[in-house]
Amino acid sequence: MSGIRPAPSGADEELTRLGVGELGALLRRGEVTATQVALAHLERAERQNRALNAWLHLDREAALTAAGEADRRLAEARRSGSEALAACHPLLGIPVGLKDLVSVRGGPCTAGSRILAGYRAPYDAHITERLRAVGAVILGKTNMDEFAMGSSTEHSAYGPTANPWALDRVPGGSSGGSAAAVAAYHVPAAIGTDTGGSIRQPASLCGIVGLKPTYGRVSRYGIVAFASSLDQIGPFGRSVADAAVLLHAVAGRDERDSTSAPVSVPDELLALPDDGGAADWLRGRRLALPREYFVPGMEPGVEARVREAVAALEAAGAVIEEVSLPHTEYGLASYYIVAPAEASANLARYDGVRFGPRLGDGRDYVADYKRTRGEGFGAEVKRRIMLGTYALSAGYYDAYYLKAQKVRTLIKADFDRVFAAGFEAIVAPTSPTVAFPLGAKLADPVAMYLSDACTLPVNMAGLPGLSVPCGLSEGLPVGLQLIGPPWSELTLLRLGRAYEAITADAPWRRLEPSDLAALDDPATPTPAERLALARAAAAATA
Ligand code: GLN
Repeated sequence: MSGIRPAPSGADEELTRLGVGELGALLRRGEVTATQVALAHLERAERQNRALNAWLHLDREAALTAAGEADRRLAEARRSGSEALAACHPLLGIPVGLKDLVSVRGGPCTAGSRILAGYRAPYDAHITERLRAVGAVILGKTNMDEFAMGSSTEHSAYGPTANPWALDRVPGGSSGGSAAAVAAYHVPAAIGTDTGGSIRQPASLCGIVGLKPTYGRVSRYGIVAFASSLDQIGPFGRSVADAAVLLHAVAGRDERDSTSAPVSVPDELLALPDDGGAADWLRGRRLALPREYFVPGMEPGVEARVREAVAALEAAGAVIEEVSLPHTEYGLASYYIVAPAEASANLARYDGVRFGPRLGDGRDYVADYKRTRGEGFGAEVKRRIMLGTYALSAGYYDAYYLKAQKVRTLIKADFDRVFAAGFEAIVAPTSPTVAFPLGAKLADPVAMYLSDACTLPVNMAGLPGLSVPCGLSEGLPVGLQLIGPPWSELTLLRLGRAYEAITADAPWRRLEPSDLAALDDPATPTPAERLALARAAAAATA
C-alpha cells in the first residue's frame, strides 16, 4: 500500500488501545491526564475519519474543556485521599461518542437526516446530563442511518460508514458510526440506540460488545424518536465490563420520560468479576437455545461460531437446552407494521417550521411543507412514513396495526414461557450474516430488513439483549446474543463476562480489525466513493 503515514509515535497512540478500566486506572494514578487521553483519541478520530466516516461532528474544543474539568476533578480527588479517588465514577476523564440523535445543548443533532441539517439542540438529553455529571468526555457525534432506519448506516444523508474489518463492507446499523468508532479505537465506548437491533447488530458486525437494555431502563428524554414503544438507548464497548460501566452512568429513572422505570441500577455493574470468578459463575446456569433463531439464510460460518460458543459455555458448566419460540417468524412482519406506524407519527413534527431548514418561498405553507419534507427526507424514511400511515389509516388499522400488536403479545408470551420455565437467559445468534459489502442490500429493502430477524423480537417484547463477539467467519466478526427477562442486564453482562473469560485465550481475541492500517492511507477511498463504485458495478452487470 502506498503512502501510509507512520502512526504517530508511541505512547499517545497506545492510549487509544486501552479500555475504560485501564484508562481509568492510569488517570487515577496520575500517570496520564484526561487531556492527554482526549487528545490521543481526538487525533486518531480526526485523522481517520475521511476513510471511515464514523463521525458526523467532532467537537475538539468542547472535548478539551471537558477533559480539563476532569483533570481538575481528578487532582482534587487525589488531594483528598484514596477514598475520594475510589469514589470517582470509572468514566471520569474517559472519551465517549454519541450517536447523532442524542441532544447536546448548542450542538448539532442531525439524526443522519438532511431535514435536521443546521439544527442545534436547545438542551441536553438526560443521558448527556448524566455523562457530564460523571465526568465523561464527549468527543462528538457519530454517523447513523437516517432516523435510525436501517441496518447498514448506508441510509445516512451524510454518506455511509465503513467497517474497520473490511473497508468495502458496512459496519451494520443503524448505530454503525458508534460501532465503527469503538472498533477503530477512536473511543473506548459509545452510545447507540436500538429499536430493532441497531446496537446489537452493528456490535456483532464490528466485533465489539453492544447492549440493548430493558425498555424503560434508560430515559429517552432528548433523543430523536423513531418508534417510541421500541427505542432504547444503550452502550458499546470493546469489553463487557466497559459496556457495563457506560450503562451504569446513563441508566435510571428520569421524570421527563414517563416510560423510564423506577428500577434501581445495580452498582455491581461497576465491578464485574475478573477472569477466574467470571468462569466459576457459569456453573449450573440454565440457558435456552431457541431453534427458530437459526433462521433460513443464516451463513454457515455464523451458525458454526454460535454453536461453538454454546459448546464452550456448556463445557464451562452451563446447562443448555433447546427451546422453541414459535412466533419468532412473525417478528419481522409485525415489527414492520408497528415501527413504521410509530415513526409516521413521530416524524410528523418535521414540518420545516419547528426544526431545521425550511425550503420554499414562505408564501404557501403547504407547498413549503411538501418541499421541505420531499427534499429533507431520504427514500427509506419516506417508505416507512407511507407504510406507517397506511397501517394506521381508518380502513386498515384493524387488519394491520391491531393485528401486529396482537402478534407482539404472542412474541412476548413466548419469551415469558421460557423464563418462567427457569431459564436465566437465552443464547442465540445476533445477526444471520457477517458484515456485507457496501451497496449489497440497498436495492432490496426486504433483504436489508432480514438482517434483524434475530434482534427484532427482543424489542417487540421490551427485553434486554447483549451481543458479544464470538469469533470470525471468513475473517469477519460474528456476534453471540444473550437475551434475558426484564431488568436482567446484570445477569446478561455477567454471562457475557464469563464467556469472555472462558475464551480469553482464543486466537481471534488477539486480532485487531484487519483494515486499520488503511485508515491512515491517504489513497484509501472514502466510504461514499466505495459505495458509488459498488453501485456503478451493480448497474453495469444489471
Ligand atoms: N434495522 C431496523 C430498522 O431499520 C432496526 C433499526 C433500529 O434498531 N433502529 O428499523
